Amino acid sequence: MIQFSGSVVLLDVEGTTSSVSYVYDVLFPYARRELTAFLAARWDEADVAAARARIAQDAGDPSLAGDRGRLASEVIRLMDADSKATGLKELQGLIWREGFRAGTLQAHVFADVPEALDRWTAAGAVVGIYSSGSVTAQKLFFGHTEAGDLLPYLRGHFDTTMGPKRERGSYAAIVQTLGRRPAEVLFLSDVAAELDAARDAGLATGLVLRPGNAPVADANGHPAVTSLAEVRVGEVPPFGP
Ligand SMILES: [Mg+2]
Repeated sequence: MIQFSGSVVLLDVEGTTSSVSYVYDVLFPYARRELTAFLAARWDEADVAAARARIAQDAGDPSLAGDRGRLASEVIRLMDADSKATGLKELQGLIWREGFRAGTLQAHVFADVPEALDRWTAAGAVVGIYSSGSVTAQKLFFGHTEAGDLLPYLRGHFDTTMGPKRERGSYAAIVQTLGRRPAEVLFLSDVAAELDAARDAGLATGLVLRPGNAPVADANGHPAVTSLAEVRVGEVPPFGP
């Protein structure tokens, strides 16, 4: 149990609010499955054209942008290689956006997440997200979860434009943006190195253990929970024995 007397909870996503396998077992296969139909239907749209141009640029072959068959082959090749190339990420993001908006994709959150968001915000806490996924992707994700639209609970979205997740300065920057003292903010994550960086910046920390996460070799003194139900924020503990 973590009893936190501060007023801000900052949440990691993958491995904390949501299953790490969701991206690999659901999102990536979805983009692969929908690729051909998506390109056929959306080929001429401006954001798809921009992604095509970027994929061609990444490949160093300008002619790729205008050839649907060869472009699709290049995208499959990049997916097979688990590439992080910008053009591929752009196109995957567009395919996912369509899936989320159509309701054919729903983001995974662990069952205790909606209840915790409700309880913390009802107690007057502010809840924010700090994820390596872009702010745009975070909003798409939490706006379309299996538990419905959770965006109304979230008051801050931070991504790697604040800095890398394992660096102290990123947490200092987030705390400054929030206009709080570091000790008023609790950061919850499944990765001890991220928690170390947050603690170095003066934040309170909690290690979240979820099914499917990589084993944590050393919690390094961070209190651990297996559910957000074990995290009490802004609530006065009961008197008595
Ligand atoms: Mg994580």
